[in-house]
Amino acid sequence: MKSPDQAAPGKRGTGNPWIGVRFTCAGAYVRVYRKPDAPAYLARCPKCGKCVRFRVGPGGTNARFFEVSC
Ligand SMILES: [Zn+2]
Repeated sequence: MKSPDQAAPGKRGTGNPWIGVRFTCAGAYVRVYRKPDAPAYLARCPKCGKCVRFRVGPGGTNARFFEVSC
């Protein structure tokens, strides 16, 4: 049985949705939360500061995990 931390993202009915983003230049994996009224996730590399937007929903992506080379 999976631990709560391994639960599938975005499946909960409450709380802010989130995606997982791995920044290859920093070697860091970050969890990015989105405010309910925000149209996209905004992820920022902890090393170089590059910002990447991820659109979700209609016209966007249904993926929950991303890898960014920056
Ligand atoms: Zn970076």
